[in-house]
Amino acid sequence: MATAATTTTPPHVVFLPYAMTSHITPLVHIARLFAAHGGLRVTIITTPHNALLFQSSVDKERNISVQTLKFPSDQVGLPDGVENFAASPTLEIAGKIHYAFFVLLQKPMEQLIRHLSPQCIVSDMFFPWTVDLAEELGIPRFSFQTCSFFTHCVWQCLRQYAPHEKLASDSDEQSISIPGLPHEIKMKLSEIEDFFFEDNFTRKTYKAVREAELRSYGIIHNTCSELEPEYVEIYEKIRRVKGWHIGPTFLFINKLYNSNSIFSDDPWKNYRDCWNWLEDQEPNSVLFVCFGSSVRFSNDQLREIALALNAAKCPFILVAKEQDKANQLEEKDDNYGDWWQVDGFKELVVNNKRCFIIKGWAPQVLILEHGAIGGFMTHCGWNSILEALTMGIPLITWPLFAEQFYNQKLLELLGLAIGVGSDVWNSGFIVSSPVVPRGKIELAIERLMYDSEESRKIRANVKLMAEKVKSATEEGGSSHSHLIALIDEIKRCA
Ligand code: UDP
Repeated sequence: MATAATTTTPPHVVFLPYAMTSHITPLVHIARLFAAHGGLRVTIITTPHNALLFQSSVDKERNISVQTLKFPSDQVGLPDGVENFAASPTLEIAGKIHYAFFVLLQKPMEQLIRHLSPQCIVSDMFFPWTVDLAEELGIPRFSFQTCSFFTHCVWQCLRQYAPHEKLASDSDEQSISIPGLPHEIKMKLSEIEDFFFEDNFTRKTYKAVREAELRSYGIIHNTCSELEPEYVEIYEKIRRVKGWHIGPTFLFINKLYNSNSIFSDDPWKNYRDCWNWLEDQEPNSVLFVCFGSSVRFSNDQLREIALALNAAKCPFILVAKEQDKANQLEEKDDNYGDWWQVDGFKELVVNNKRCFIIKGWAPQVLILEHGAIGGFMTHCGWNSILEALTMGIPLITWPLFAEQFYNQKLLELLGLAIGVGSDVWNSGFIVSSPVVPRGKIELAIERLMYDSEESRKIRANVKLMAEKVKSATEEGGSSHSHLIALIDEIKRCA
C-alpha cells in the first residue's frame, strides 16, 4: 500500500477507543492499518480488560503499543474486570461504565496524552473533550464514527425538517416519510429514538459529539461508497468537515493478515466444537442467530425465539447472553434463564442435532464466513451488517435500539433482508419492546431460509452486494483510496 514519503521519525498517533466491543474492534483495525501499512507510530489508550480483547493481535505489530489506565471500579462500585458494555447485563452497570469512560477517565487520559506528546489524536466519537485537548496541543483530532452514511442522512433530515413533530397530536397516523432523501423512507414514530422527542441525556451527548466533530480535523467512517453511494454523496455535502470512509475495516485486516479475528492467533481455538458442528452441515443451510455484543432479551421473548426455531426446521446456531438478573456478574448456568426448556427446544439442545448453542461470546466473523451459513438473524448493529454483507449472507432483521431501525431501512431498500416485524425502539440493550410472537419469527425464517422466488432474489442481491463491498477494499476501491489519502493527510499535517 503506497503512501506519501515518510519523515525519519514516523508521526505518533494516539487512539482512544470507547468501552464497547463494536467501537473498539474497528478502531483497533484502523490502528493496525496505520502502523503496519501507513508507517505511523501508534499508541492505543484503554483500560486493562478492554486491552485484553485485542492485545494479542497488536503484539505482532512493530509500531503499536498499548497503554492502560486503571478502570475506576471502586469509584463506580463495580467488581474488577467489568469495563465493557458486553460484560454488562444491566443498564445500570452500562451507565456506570459510561460514566467512568465519559467523565472519570478524562483527566488520566488527558495526562497520559500530554505525556506522550503525539502528533495526532484518533478519538472515538464518545470522547468529545479530545477536541479541546487537540486544539490546545495544536494537533489534528480525527473523530471515529461507527454508523452508516444513511443513518447520518436520516438524522440530518429529522433535525432539519422535523417531520415527527409535524404530525397533529390528535392524528391516528403513526408513520412519517423522511423528507430530503433520494428514496421514499417511511418510519413509524415508535421506531425513532427518544432524543428526537425530548431533550434528554442522549440528546445532550450527541450534541456534544456533533459539536466536537465540527471543530475536528475530520471524521473517519466505517462504511464505503460501494454499499451506499447516494448517501455517501449526500452526507459528504452536509458533513461540513473533511471525512474518509474506510470500511469495512475488518476486511482490510482479514486480507492483509489472513486472520479472521483480532482476538487470537488461531481464531477457532476455543470454538472447535462449533467448527466441527458446522462442518457437518449442508452448504448455506444454517441460520446464525446473534444479536450483537450486548442485547438482553426477556425470558418471554427468548421462549418465543426458541419455539420459532424449533418450528422452522432449519439448522441454526443461537448465541445466548446472560440475562438481566441480579446475580449476573458471577458466571453461572442459570444466568442464561430457563427459556430453552420450552417444548421441543429442550430436546433439540440436548440432542445437539439441528442446533448449536453458544453461551457468551461467539466467533461471529468466522461463523459468517463458514460455507454452511445461509442466513443471519441480527439486531442490525452496523458491524454485524458489514460482516454479513461482506460474506454474502442474507439477513433477517430485528432492530432493537440505537440507530438499528435506520440500518434495517437501508437493508430493505437494497433488497437484502426480511424483517421480523419489530417496530418499537428500545432506549438501550435491555429489550422492553413488545414480545415478537413465534409466528412472526417463524415466518421470517421460512421466507429467508426456504427456497422461493423471494429468497432467491434476496440471495442474488446479497451476492452482488458482497462483490461490491469486497471491491471497496481492493486497489481502486473507495475505502482503499480513502485509507491511503487519510494516512497521507495525517503525515502531511502531523
Ligand atoms: N460479536 C461477536 N460475537 C458475539 C457478539 C458480537 O464477535 O457473540 C461481534 C460482531 O462480530 C460485531 C460486534 O461484536 O463485530 C457487534 O457489533 P454491532 O455493531 O453489530 O452491534 P453492537 O454490539 O454494537 O450492538
